[in-house]
Amino acid sequence: MFDAPRRGKPPQHLADLDPAERKAVVESLGHNGFRAKQLSTHYFEHLVGSPEEMSDLPKAIREDLVARLLPQLLTAVRTVEADKGKTVKSVWRLHDGALVESVLMRYPRRVTICISSQAGCGMNCPFCATGQEGLTRNLSTAEIVEQVVRAARSLRRGDVAGGAEGSPLRVSNVVFMGMGEALANYSAAIGAIRRMTDPSPDGLGMSARGITMSTVGLVPAIDRLAAEGIPVTLALSLHAPDDDLRNELVPINTRWSIGEAIDAAYRYFATTGRRVSIEYALIRDVNDQGWRADLLGKKLNARGRGWVHVNPIPLNPTPGSRWTASDPRVEREFVRRLRALGVPTTVRDTRGSDIDGACGQLAASTA
Ligand code: SAH
Repeated sequence: MFDAPRRGKPPQHLADLDPAERKAVVESLGHNGFRAKQLSTHYFEHLVGSPEEMSDLPKAIREDLVARLLPQLLTAVRTVEADKGKTVKSVWRLHDGALVESVLMRYPRRVTICISSQAGCGMNCPFCATGQEGLTRNLSTAEIVEQVVRAARSLRRGDVAGGAEGSPLRVSNVVFMGMGEALANYSAAIGAIRRMTDPSPDGLGMSARGITMSTVGLVPAIDRLAAEGIPVTLALSLHAPDDDLRNELVPINTRWSIGEAIDAAYRYFATTGRRVSIEYALIRDVNDQGWRADLLGKKLNARGRGWVHVNPIPLNPTPGSRWTASDPRVEREFVRRLRALGVPTTVRDTRGSDIDGACGQLAASTA
């Protein structure tokens, strides 16, 4: 299912527009065009969104400009903390009542936010909580960007616990690993990436290498992303090295096979120079056999060396699922076999699994 159902559009926001379009909107309201830059500075640099905080704008026009270009897009309906406050998961309500979630994770030298690109998801992977829900709708560019801005604001306010002195107070990494298949919402996702990487005050001024686009393997969209000239990191959710099993775990595999998806990932590396990540949720007695580690290593090495690394992650079981995480010994053996084949492999950490941290579960339990 690729086409999101039609719903009332979210209100247009500054972050949906490039600088020239922002200026045009401001002028169409009868204000001087340079007000657009002031608004962008407030939003992307000062991280403020309320008129009271914009003292460089004449009082008489503040409300008008804010109402038109900085409408409230996300309303917090629930926040849950884990890892002593260093992981904060938020459920947001969108203008039409749809729910999405984001997760902020603070580490000693970086801050990562995991964001959603769609309400729900149409990819229907049976082990994923969001996949069970189906697709509600695509998010707009600004609804995606706003998740990052809200996280940056709460960091700056000191709402997020932890970290040694001098640890960063800005969001250094963004992963498209929340709800949704971002490459199925391509133009909004690429717009969000541009807003994140555009230098301040036009955007957030983040480094492209700190952004990870995760995908089930929509081959034409991977090639399109490679051609954008923004070298974000690509993560391919493989979860199986053989088509029989992957057809079941990641149903889009019946459209683009493992061979085609790995070839596209390799082309992404060849074009951008960015090493690709392979995501692999280890599911007990389903995809965690030693021979599958060997087959995965073989298929990756067949394209070359040094272009890829594998991130196994223990399955985070979803409520009512018949599947569970692999035994730790089995996980270690899986990793050992990949490394023995020369494939760099690191187990992904599982922050926040105690707060339904992964994969659409919190929004599902809120709805
Ligand atoms: N649609 C994108 C991004 C969203 S999911 C994609 O599929 O890549 C982000 C990652 O979490 C994907 O690798 C996905 O397969 C994985 N995932 C989903 N549900 C999971 C679960 N229950 N346990 C572990 N990983 C899961």
